[in-house]
Amino acid sequence: MSRRITLDRLPRDDRTNGWYYTLLPPPPARVLEGEQTADWLVVGAGFAGLGAARRLAELRPNDRVALVEAQRVGLGAAGRNSGFAIDLPHGVDMNQIERNRAQLRLVRSALEHLDTMVTTHQIACQWSRRGKIHAAATDAGMRQIEAFAQGLSLIDEPATLMDAEATRRYLGTSYYKGGVYTAGCALMQPAALVRGLARALPMNVDLYEDSPVVAVDYGTSVRAETPKGAITAPRMVLCSEAFTPAFGFLGDKLFTLYTFGSLTRPLDDAEVKALGGEGDWGIIPASRGGTTLRYTQDRRILVRNVVRYVPGLHVGDAALARIREDHVHAFRARFPMLPDVGFDYTWGGSLCISKNRGTVFGKLADNVFAALCQNGVGVTKGTIAGRAVAEYATGLDSQHVADMMLFPEPELLPNRPFLDVGVRAELAMARWHAGAEH
Ligand SMILES: Cc1cc2nc3c(=O)[nH]c(=O)nc-3n(C[C@H](O)[C@H](O)[C@H](O)COP(=O)(O)OP(=O)(O)OC[C@H]3O[C@@H](n4cnc5c(N)ncnc54)[C@H](O)[C@@H]3O)c2cc1C
Repeated sequence: MSRRITLDRLPRDDRTNGWYYTLLPPPPARVLEGEQTADWLVVGAGFAGLGAARRLAELRPNDRVALVEAQRVGLGAAGRNSGFAIDLPHGVDMNQIERNRAQLRLVRSALEHLDTMVTTHQIACQWSRRGKIHAAATDAGMRQIEAFAQGLSLIDEPATLMDAEATRRYLGTSYYKGGVYTAGCALMQPAALVRGLARALPMNVDLYEDSPVVAVDYGTSVRAETPKGAITAPRMVLCSEAFTPAFGFLGDKLFTLYTFGSLTRPLDDAEVKALGGEGDWGIIPASRGGTTLRYTQDRRILVRNVVRYVPGLHVGDAALARIREDHVHAFRARFPMLPDVGFDYTWGGSLCISKNRGTVFGKLADNVFAALCQNGVGVTKGTIAGRAVAEYATGLDSQHVADMMLFPEPELLPNRPFLDVGVRAELAMARWHAGAEH
């Protein structure tokens, strides 16, 4: 049975992504033109798609792999995030010890892979093994990070509790009452990283950028149409994350949140001195509705906060301007020693979420595979899900595949408008609970 889907939602750039637009422009894109064929079609060149395409090419060196991306690599969520390649979960679920272990194996394998890629291919992305701090600005936040540290000790993961003075010395700002430092996380410039990963793809991967898939014919093979061409392959791997329902799958199980970042100009020497601290760093907030911060190797400060439910996958200029005000407020509260520093960029990016934080891995149809729904931590999870789905699709019996299979599938969502009301209420609660962590 063949079926044709015309996509009703496509990624489009709004020229706001600071990580991307502070890089030099890339060489011209190779656009998909005319009728093409491949052995494998991978859709979406974020962390999952780059991981899947690379692993397919390694496992099947004589096959041609086509990786089709709607925009330039780095303009999607993979190039818009806060740049934490995270190893440890934000919370430890003591009822799921086996799953915790599987998750740690997976994300550490992803970190090792990214580490190797950065080193081997000399990817200039400010890759930094500085770890991260879960920082708390309130008493409630302190209780949350102490519980987090306890959870880590139960799974034998080393963590260092920091008091207010230790966090001030490390970060410069005296906004925080304390933190938990863990060493495994890597920090980086995400648009530079994904661009570097794309440049380093094996010779048997053809990367087509600025080539949005606008229609798909599903049958014994899959034919994907783009504005200037089409590609037919016996198998497709979907790594399209928040845009997946437009491909005709999982519309009743996945929903989209947006979160937002702002980036300053580089601090000058006097500002670096006024800030203090001990080099580059990254802070994850104690509470879900709180503010993530980075101080980068090129001396910029990133603020990320505000989470919105955006079913239409588009945030207007007026909403973005209001969110920027939230970022300015968070910045001024934490960095009174930098009164002349403002933001050069403010942007939003999509997160693909499921109700039970389940993940989509494996087969969606006879010849359609997927690595989807990274629930907002896709740098490591997306990378490894992409690599694992390539192993699964080529029949490799690997530890990655066995570990991925331990995670639950997404549950059915309530119908709209109940979904809309529920998600908005939960986000409002998280924001309210965050208080001064925001
Ligand atoms: C502001 C922000 C901060 C974040 N911080 C972090 C963080 O610090 N650490 C972390 O781990 N995660 C973070 N995330 C989440 C992380 O960015 C995502 O989980 C990750 O990008 C998911 O990777 P992916 O490859 O699965 O999907 P994506 O990166 O979303 O890639 C999907 C790709 O598919 C392409 N695509 C979609 N439709 C089509 C089509 N029709 N045709 C062709 N191509 C198509 C898109 O253009 C996109 O490039 C953050 C996200 C945001 C927005």
